[in-house]
Amino acid sequence: MSYDLSIQDEGDRRHIWIRGEIDEDFDAQQLRKAFTPNVVMHLEDVRSISSCGIREWISFISELPAGTHLEFEKCSIPITRQFGMLSNFRGPGLIRSFYAPYYCDECDEETERLLRVKADHSVEHDPNVPDCKCADCGSKLEFDGVERVYFSFLREMMSKE
Ligand SMILES: [Zn+2]
Repeated sequence: MSYDLSIQDEGDRRHIWIRGEIDEDFDAQQLRKAFTPNVVMHLEDVRSISSCGIREWISFISELPAGTHLEFEKCSIPITRQFGMLSNFRGPGLIRSFYAPYYCDECDEETERLLRVKADHSVEHDPNVPDCKCADCGSKLEFDGVERVYFSFLREMMSKE
């Protein structure tokens, strides 16, 4: 198995962590069994998702029972890219926080920042992570990608909520 699931309940809310790679081994049935009507999925340790994994994920998400309350926390960059590119990747889920790729020109280093989605669907930096300045040299970091595409799920969440 290229990934593992772990579960922790907090009142009537269930937290599910997926760690590893979502690929042809991804078993939607296993995840379906772990689901309850109120779930927070933690996706910071999803390292990659293959085309098989995407198909399986979308079929899982599209079959969630109506009324499922689902939130995604700390979505890794590979997962966030799918939210931006595939409008049915999120299903009824709301993205609460996600990582974004940045780049320091001075240091020639790539880095990631955790961003939080605010109630108005703008984003703010996680207060525990320094803002968009390089931790080594203090230069302003450049977004490493096409912001309009990467953040497109924000507009889409806003239009459907
Ligand atoms: Zn730097």
